[in-house]
Amino acid sequence: MRKTQQRGSLAFERVTKRYGKSVAVDDISFSIEPKTLVTLLGPSGCGKTTTLRMIAGLERVDEGRISIGGRDVTELSAAERDVSMVFQSYALFPHMSVVENVAYGLTVARQPKKLARERALEALALVGLADLADRSPSELSGGQQQRVAVARALVLEPEVLLLDEPLSNLDAKMRTRVRDEIRDLQLKLGLTAVYVTHDQEEALAISDQIVVMNRKKIVQQGSPREIFEAPADEFVADFIGNANLVDGEIRSANGKTANCLIGGAAVDLPYAGTRTGPVRIALRPEAIALQVASGDAALIGEVSRATYLGREMQYAIQSELGELFVVCHRLDQIFPRGARVGLQLKAHGAAIVGAHA
Ligand code: ATP
Repeated sequence: MRKTQQRGSLAFERVTKRYGKSVAVDDISFSIEPKTLVTLLGPSGCGKTTTLRMIAGLERVDEGRISIGGRDVTELSAAERDVSMVFQSYALFPHMSVVENVAYGLTVARQPKKLARERALEALALVGLADLADRSPSELSGGQQQRVAVARALVLEPEVLLLDEPLSNLDAKMRTRVRDEIRDLQLKLGLTAVYVTHDQEEALAISDQIVVMNRKKIVQQGSPREIFEAPADEFVADFIGNANLVDGEIRSANGKTANCLIGGAAVDLPYAGTRTGPVRIALRPEAIALQVASGDAALIGEVSRATYLGREMQYAIQSELGELFVVCHRLDQIFPRGARVGLQLKAHGAAIVGAHA
């Protein structure tokens, strides 16, 4: 427990939030280590923003307890918590210059004006915008405005930095750039950050840990690799990585691996249990290799859709396992619609769903 007492640690213990009779967040518990970036990831309406707003003190908790740095903050107002938030909409003051926007929180906290300006300029330098300090926000691009919003949050040196879908108003190229900048800054400054997104790729790219939410509950917490390679259930497998969910059978299991039959194909997959019998298996689109159909192929299918995307081919394949979504990065052999193909399953990229539960 000692670790969670450190500055920047965060813990939810059995927290529930209701709006009237409807539950927005249902009995969730998780903890965050200092200096890590943790994403709350899930589909629209799953409760991520409400969770973030409860950390900020912008929503009251109905049940449970929230602590930051080992201190119970459940009943504290937003102003009494050492957190700051970056909003989706930037929320910059249009009548103030960039540097005045960044210095705003410090002047409200009654720091001398000159010192506040100096610190704001330092924060702007961190996000690469020192030379635009005297412009007005309307003279900046969306990406630059969001960097100002990040600088405004950083200048307060919060114990926990909160980011609510900070990239959603940016175009795809700028999203990747600002995403990487946020991650670099978080690592460089050793910040604890909680980041809300519904974009699985963004979560995989930026996080130390991902908390996956669905229907107001947490369904899994783990590193990007754990979440991707060992999804806790069918929802996680589908939501992160568009896995194909198919029926299979465990023929034997020794507590570490299971020998599974998927259609006519046998594969060894990681499995912590010893149970045998029917099971659901998540097959990543990249875990299925296609080859020219031959008599000895364990699984055969027919191409019902073939889409050329430059770097990859995407196929829909009708097979005895149902329709499979397949992504091939090998473009030296392209199969047209209607082709009969042999399917080879790669063990890496296939997982027994719920294997580690
Ligand atoms: P999104 O990605 O769409 O923002 P989210 O995962 O952040 O979704 P929340 O905004 O946390 O979801 O909402 C969780 C649930 O609480 C939803 O069912 C939502 O309709 C409900 N909710 C959120 N805010 C309020 C409110 N002020 N009053 C009533 N219900 C609310």
